[in-house]
Amino acid sequence: MNTNKKMAAQWAAVLLTLWSIAGIAADPAAVTEQRLRHTESEPQNWLTTGHDYGEQRFSALKSITEANVGRLGLAWYYDLDTNRGQEATPVVVDGILYSTSAWSKVQALEASTGKLLWQYDPRVPGEIAIHVCCDLVNRGVAVWQGRVYVATLDGRLVALDARSGQPVWSVDTKEGGHPYVSTGAPLAAAGKIIIGNAGAEYGVRGYVTAYDAASGKRLWRFYTVPGDPSKGFENAALAKAARTWTGQWWLDGGGASVWNDISFDPDLGLLYLGTANAAPWGRKPAAGTAGDSLYAASIVAVHVADGSYAWHYQTTPSDVWDYDSAQTLTLATLNIAGKPRKVVMQAAKNGFFYVLDRASGELLSAKNYVPVNWARGVDLKSGRPEVNPEARYDLTGKVFVGAPGASGGHNWQPMSFSPATGLVYIPAQEMPFPYLLDANFKPVKLGVNMAIDLAATSLPQDPKAKAAALAGLKGYLSAWDPIAQREVWRANYPGPWNGGLLSTAGNLVFQGSAAGGLFAYRASDGTRLWSFAAQTGIIGAPMSYAVGDKQYVTVLAGWGGVFPLVAGELSFKSGRQVNRSRILTFALDGSAKLPPASLPAEQFPPPPSAPVNAAAASQGAIHYARYCGSCHGDAVVSGGLVPDLRFSAALGNDALWQSVVNDGALVSAGMIAFKSALTTAEQSAIRAFLIQRAQQSYAVAHASAR
Ligand code: CA
Repeated sequence: MNTNKKMAAQWAAVLLTLWSIAGIAADPAAVTEQRLRHTESEPQNWLTTGHDYGEQRFSALKSITEANVGRLGLAWYYDLDTNRGQEATPVVVDGILYSTSAWSKVQALEASTGKLLWQYDPRVPGEIAIHVCCDLVNRGVAVWQGRVYVATLDGRLVALDARSGQPVWSVDTKEGGHPYVSTGAPLAAAGKIIIGNAGAEYGVRGYVTAYDAASGKRLWRFYTVPGDPSKGFENAALAKAARTWTGQWWLDGGGASVWNDISFDPDLGLLYLGTANAAPWGRKPAAGTAGDSLYAASIVAVHVADGSYAWHYQTTPSDVWDYDSAQTLTLATLNIAGKPRKVVMQAAKNGFFYVLDRASGELLSAKNYVPVNWARGVDLKSGRPEVNPEARYDLTGKVFVGAPGASGGHNWQPMSFSPATGLVYIPAQEMPFPYLLDANFKPVKLGVNMAIDLAATSLPQDPKAKAAALAGLKGYLSAWDPIAQREVWRANYPGPWNGGLLSTAGNLVFQGSAAGGLFAYRASDGTRLWSFAAQTGIIGAPMSYAVGDKQYVTVLAGWGGVFPLVAGELSFKSGRQVNRSRILTFALDGSAKLPPASLPAEQFPPPPSAPVNAAAASQGAIHYARYCGSCHGDAVVSGGLVPDLRFSAALGNDALWQSVVNDGALVSAGMIAFKSALTTAEQSAIRAFLIQRAQQSYAVAHASAR
């Protein structure tokens, strides 16, 4: 026996001992199709990130109720070793909790104590960060027959032994050398592991792939947009879709990536996929978006057996607003017009709440759940939105302040459906966005591909205009009646980008907030019953499980995601936060305490005082918007996840500037070398713009201090 094998055997023996002491099943993660079909028969477990194949995120546990939730306290916490956004929902199987954290790391913990059993780091290379639009996040694992599956940021699908955390197999899901990344949780269904990817802002062609759960063998791949016609189409559905595109769309990929969770109806044998925008969004119609651009911005049903197309419903034809239709696809049976209907529901990014028959794809109803100005409504007969002509900024050439904006009325944060109240709980938001066509747009290799003039629409520094923009930002929990299509109650937060939802049979709804609170509401009327100060913004969704008779509520805390990366000063509206990444678990009479923490004191070091070349700075603003702003923030104000470049020591240090920006000294943290994308003159122009912004901000801070 070699040393590695010996160590593995010893480790397995230690784990076995741990399991028997903890009363945990000796056969971990023994999840089967049968168990996943009947999650209602084992409410103590939470077997998939969405709780069940229908992604309802409802727990039938009711030890914690509206009457006693005031006694809820911290039972245990586990510090995660990354400081980026935490978007995963843990899975709990027979006393073991499996989760992921940023950079696609996986943890297995004893669910009753938070004690680490094993962890797995896929060692994602830092260079990948430039191809990720919306933070280095991961939304969780799939668990199936003794294995734990994770899709990594760099496009691998890895099967881990649930006992040891050691890889059993690993496949590369990427195609054609494109920068696909994965952030969604894989789905285990019908003996297959199914995974999509992200990258619709980076010129990729979307697809979903099924792998054999046991061997990792690729079984089928469903493309969400047609490819190069000269190579022939993969199937009739794609040949049909190709008639809705113009120009040479395939050169830029087409987009429509399936980056979020996938739902499944085992009786119908159908998978439900939500697809992203057509790519690049906003470009002129002649280049590809004159037609509907199928199957982008759509809900698509696909047969799990062979990956063949079943039906689609496009929420946003000719999407130029980044209205991905990738939000939670919740399956439920609703009583509509006196008849039980098996439906799929989505609170789409475009602001409409859709109810579809999930066997046929028939649109049953659609109503806006947040203010909408891009369309007047949805015509139920044709199923098409009645688009406001002013919204087509790509045709008018004028600014259109869209509601919703590109962040959506609802983004990836999962919603929850309670069969007990019949309500859907939506993490809703209002984030208007000024859309303006970038007439000079050309796709770039490193950076975000959107034909939007981000430099021109940057947050104005005039105090009045800034205040008006901030006033337009809202975030709330909306309790929505999906049959009547109306809001029943609402809970307001300081701003947008709050956490995902959990509802329970204790007549409770749980949600974390961007401002760092975790709250419990009465599910039927929205009365706030309990709160906890989490010391960091929460964007993930809580979940619930039991070990023995004891019910727990768990959430991943850790501020992040696209909002604090991109939105700059606007993100402060939600509550100025730092990232403290933790798994927090609560139980009745829990008495654990977080270590004390406070926000770091604001310091604004003086920037270089030499006058800035105004022409260089204005060129730099354009390059900044294209290459830097999607992480370092609009108008060079960091939302707290990455360094604020106005404070950077590199502004006044030639050697340091070159080593980081040109040569990639900080690549392991995700800051790549830009020498292949930007000339040294362009890099200098960016630096001039940064110094200009630092000087402006310093002057404002200095003036207000006096
Ligand atoms: Ca998108």
